[in-house]
Amino acid sequence: MRIRTAAVLGAGTMGAQIAAHLANAGLPVLLLDVTAAAAAEGLERAKTTRPDPFFTTAAHALVQTGGFDTSLPRISSCDWIIEAIVERLDLKQALLARVDAIRPAGAIVSSNTSGIPIAAIAEGRSPSFRQHWLGTHFFNPPRYLRLLEVIPTADTDAAVTAAITRFADERLGKGVIVARDTPNFVANRLGLFGVMQILRAVFSGRYTIEEVDAITGPAIGRPKSATFRTMDMAGIDVLMHVACNLTERLEPSEAATFVAPPLLAEMVGRGWIGSKAGQGFYKKDANGEVFTLDLSTMTYRERRAPRLASLEAARTIEDHADRIRTLFLGSDRVGQFLRETLAPTLLYAAQVAPAIASSIDDVDRAMQWGFGWELGPFETWDAIGVNAVLNASGVTHPPSLAVEALNGGGFRSQTASRGQVTLSRVPPAGTGLQVLRAAKDAGKVVRRNAGASLIDLEDGVLCVEFHSKMNAIGGDSLQMLLAGVTEASANHRALVVGTEAVNFSAGANLMLLLLEAQEGNWEEIEQMVRAFQRTTMALKHADVPVVVAPAGLALGGGCEIALHGDRVHASAEAYMGLVEVGVGLIPAGGGTKEMLARAMDDLPRGADPLPHIQRVFETLGFGKVSTSAADARRLGYLRDADSWSMNRERVIADAKALALQRTSEYVKPQPRNAIPVGGEGLLAALKLGVHLAWRAGRLSDHDALIGRKLAGILAGGLPHAGTVTEAQLLDLEREAFLSLCGERKTLERIAHTLKTGKTLRN
Ligand code: NAD
Repeated sequence: MRIRTAAVLGAGTMGAQIAAHLANAGLPVLLLDVTAAAAAEGLERAKTTRPDPFFTTAAHALVQTGGFDTSLPRISSCDWIIEAIVERLDLKQALLARVDAIRPAGAIVSSNTSGIPIAAIAEGRSPSFRQHWLGTHFFNPPRYLRLLEVIPTADTDAAVTAAITRFADERLGKGVIVARDTPNFVANRLGLFGVMQILRAVFSGRYTIEEVDAITGPAIGRPKSATFRTMDMAGIDVLMHVACNLTERLEPSEAATFVAPPLLAEMVGRGWIGSKAGQGFYKKDANGEVFTLDLSTMTYRERRAPRLASLEAARTIEDHADRIRTLFLGSDRVGQFLRETLAPTLLYAAQVAPAIASSIDDVDRAMQWGFGWELGPFETWDAIGVNAVLNASGVTHPPSLAVEALNGGGFRSQTASRGQVTLSRVPPAGTGLQVLRAAKDAGKVVRRNAGASLIDLEDGVLCVEFHSKMNAIGGDSLQMLLAGVTEASANHRALVVGTEAVNFSAGANLMLLLLEAQEGNWEEIEQMVRAFQRTTMALKHADVPVVVAPAGLALGGGCEIALHGDRVHASAEAYMGLVEVGVGLIPAGGGTKEMLARAMDDLPRGADPLPHIQRVFETLGFGKVSTSAADARRLGYLRDADSWSMNRERVIADAKALALQRTSEYVKPQPRNAIPVGGEGLLAALKLGVHLAWRAGRLSDHDALIGRKLAGILAGGLPHAGTVTEAQLLDLEREAFLSLCGERKTLERIAHTLKTGKTLRN
């Protein structure tokens, strides 16, 4: 069951974005809607949707559009057909009857329905259709939200479920859970239950919208958008729709919980359905000021910062589990709110888990991947304590899962799997998922300091993992990289540099640099830069192949480390960039040198180097950051030989496989002694560009100064065109870096970034 081509039926919000993500995976996609014009419009909308559903504009070309009226027969060439039209059973059934008549034998057909029973949609279809039919529930936005709920029916061939699960995992990068065919499946059922509890508490007038968002955001390990901003973003109409589906399909006693408070219907009636309408629970005025809905008067008022002392106090608690427990058990309003809303939600999860999922792990993952919760419901049970949750909920007959957990000392402390309940957090060995976590759990940490560790990945592959805050690179991380190169060269076959954290590295440790610069310790700064350069050169000239595995942010120094691997094997979601100009500096860990050398390597014989160097100059000068790994290739941070995994959890296993594959063909690179450079002539051309941009107001004085320093390195520091060694370019990098450290405006930029996380244009 190979999936090489796909069709998506319905080019609305979801259909067009699903098509985009299939194109990201390299699949040719046919996107159809009622008419060809509607499909084309849907595709155009997806192209301008932000965040971008496409990795690069090159992927647009993989999506072809057409109408059901004339183009439906074209699905006969597709291996997977995804239905994503309006949420109406009759319309879905009617369209799928037409699909049944023309689908090629063996083609898989699935629905993206949010909650209509999957089996019901396929009623009346042919046996072959029903064997190849299942639910594939993507979350919005499908490129970015990891969760995919796969829902087989009683008729679905097990091989079909396996094929889609595998394809979604490996090729689309999804976190797949196999859910049972019950109303709204797993994530929306539990998510909505929690929202209903919260809405009741708020509509009772005892808590403000701001208070609830303060409590239900990062404080309890959930996204910043918390409850009400998330609802505004998802659309209150969508929420109502999903809730109605539950009230219609569940037993009356359970359905009652999902009946939306009348005020919600009132909001939908007024069209106050959230961000897409410009107002919902919050409203932004023309000046960008945000107002909050006052539910008692249904008018918008100024925002009121909540004053909840226990939340402030809990900020210092790093561990999510400790923090949730502390807040939940608190005797104040925050504790009261959580006991009133979170306890019933956890209880409900324990009640319905066996009916909706095949393991409590799947339930936890659904909430983590679909809603961005740090801890799933069962992890939260354990964090707070089973007894404490039961006491708070006041139930006399707890669900049997909770009773088992109570007797067994928690949901996750049970080792055996019992009945429906499986309890392993780390995926089974050999699945290629989360291999770093598995290696660490198996005691394979060889060496460790505050910034990084050496971990034995077995089969002759050693790994350096960063684990400082934001994985900022300081002396300790560099030391560990050097130790990794030495140790791998002596006792292993290859080295991988990666991490299981969200971000590979936000860059070099700026705090340290700022302190030294403020003290005028130029010697120390020079030593720091030399150490960085020594490390990247050691990676590049190692005796064994080094594969660097960036994921999430790989900025500044993090990007430079990637540039010096024998190969990069990234996560598809890799945001790479030499962003040093943003903090008033230039890349001096070998990054400028490497980008120049690559541009020269790629130069066709006899071609004019200026446009190629100009490209590098602009990439570095504007501190361009890739929006995906594919985009990093376009910017030159990745080479054609570099690769990526769609699934973040597979990156390290795939990097390891690549490293092993490289061992047979790897030849340690020799230092480059003759990199062609343009000298003063090229320098003048680059400086002219800087001057013109400065005169046009596109660069500040300080930008222009940094631009000229950068140009100086890219021109090679020679009076005429000629060649230089890598070492000479590294000297130029250091010199420029040090001189910029002596500039007040550079220090202002660094201080600003450290304080706000943003860049300063001074
Ligand atoms: P949408 O309204 O944006 O798009 C629906 C598309 O279906 C439109 O392009 C429309 O032209 C087409 N359509 C309308 N009437 C049709 C008909 N009679 N026959 C065939 N096509 C018709 O909806 P959406 O948000 O993209 O949702 C599509 C599906 O995905 C629904 O089943 C929905 O429940 C599900 N879903 C939505 C979300 C979400 O957040 N929006 C998330 C997960 C799943």
